[in-house]
Amino acid sequence: MCCNNSLSEKEVHLKESIPVDLQAIRGMKFFDPHVHMTSRTTDDYQAMADAGVVALIEPAFWLGQPRTGPDTFRDYYSSLIGWERFRSSQFGIKHYCTIGLNSREANNEPLAEQVMEMLPLFIYKEGVVGVGEIGFDDQTALEEKYYRLQLDLAKEAGLPVQVHTPHRDKKKGTQLSMDIALEQGLNPYMVIIDHNNEETVKEVLDRGFWAAFTIYPFTKMGNERMVDIVKQYGTERIMINSAADWGISDPLAVPKTAALMKQRGISDADIQLVTYQNAITAFGQSGQINEMDFGHLINIDQSERFEGNTVLRGGQQPRIDTSSIIIS
Ligand SMILES: [Zn+2]
Repeated sequence: MCCNNSLSEKEVHLKESIPVDLQAIRGMKFFDPHVHMTSRTTDDYQAMADAGVVALIEPAFWLGQPRTGPDTFRDYYSSLIGWERFRSSQFGIKHYCTIGLNSREANNEPLAEQVMEMLPLFIYKEGVVGVGEIGFDDQTALEEKYYRLQLDLAKEAGLPVQVHTPHRDKKKGTQLSMDIALEQGLNPYMVIIDHNNEETVKEVLDRGFWAAFTIYPFTKMGNERMVDIVKQYGTERIMINSAADWGISDPLAVPKTAALMKQRGISDADIQLVTYQNAITAFGQSGQINEMDFGHLINIDQSERFEGNTVLRGGQQPRIDTSSIIIS
């Protein structure tokens, strides 16, 4: 299973050999404003908590294969404000979510209509900090239709909007997303444009929107590029996230990037803005985020129940010693 290209193999090794030094950021708190925990394991929750992640936002999204009916949407939204929030609390992490119809499934019009009908039942719930993630995938007419309708909904509810920008034709899709948000009468300060890169950041900031960056292996942004962006553009209205999901992704992307920023000479105050505070300022406009709720989840009792269920299965004991080789 090996390749003959020893040079690129060497390069890969060289990259991998930069050690992660999370010790350098010990004591710092992080807020990951875009991470799909439904797709992640309890080990991920534990590792995030250990690395200083105290709160997160889980946007409603595309689950990897198309849903066939409205009931699976309803159950998914319910789990974001129910079971998943509880599961997160069992690791000491405050869980918020954004609720919306993702761009891919907006292309199934009969289903999209049914989902639109149920959105008002969820967006006003406690802990829902925005409408998201919505926007464009293939930049089709149906995507535009449901993007506009959901912007109206967010405006009416006074909620921030979390906008997913497309992978293909990103620059055009990002510009279009901003144009439409303004056309629908949204204040750009209420709109978080996500998945930015070097090509889009300037215009997003110039037009008064928030610019979120996803640190995602191989595709979106690497964190060395992110360090350069912060050095060039500063920290105002910039935030980073992991967007960790069911794909090859890294739920520790935020703390790791903070550590790299520190290594590369960015001040603690600036790191705190892009890895914690700015996300709270932006999504806090929902009126749903209270920092006093973070870090109060110490002394967690993993035998607590949510509707009769715990994160412990079949009489398991709460996990305590992660450093032991023995699993008992
Ligand atoms: Zn996402």
